Amino acid sequence: MYPVIDRKECSCCGRCVDVCPSDVFVLEDEVPQVVAPEECIECSACVDNCPSEAVTLHD
Ligand code: SF4
Ligand code: SF4
Repeated sequence: MYPVIDRKECSCCGRCVDVCPSDVFVLEDEVPQVVAPEECIECSACVDNCPSEAVTLHD
């Protein structure tokens, strides 16, 4: 699985970048981007820690 960020909901807080153990996200100009979806280990930390419910995991 890999994460998808809903741009309409994301507040660019950066928490998903901080909590991901696999460096799936990076901040580019203060906006989180999914840069390594193949590295996702499906731990759900990004989903659980997003304050805006902006991250979902997809097959
Ligand atoms: S589920 Fe875990 S490994 Fe996958 S992107 Fe989210 S925090 Fe990273
Ligand atoms: S944790 Fe949620 S609101 Fe914060 S940057 Fe990531 S997707 Fe956006």
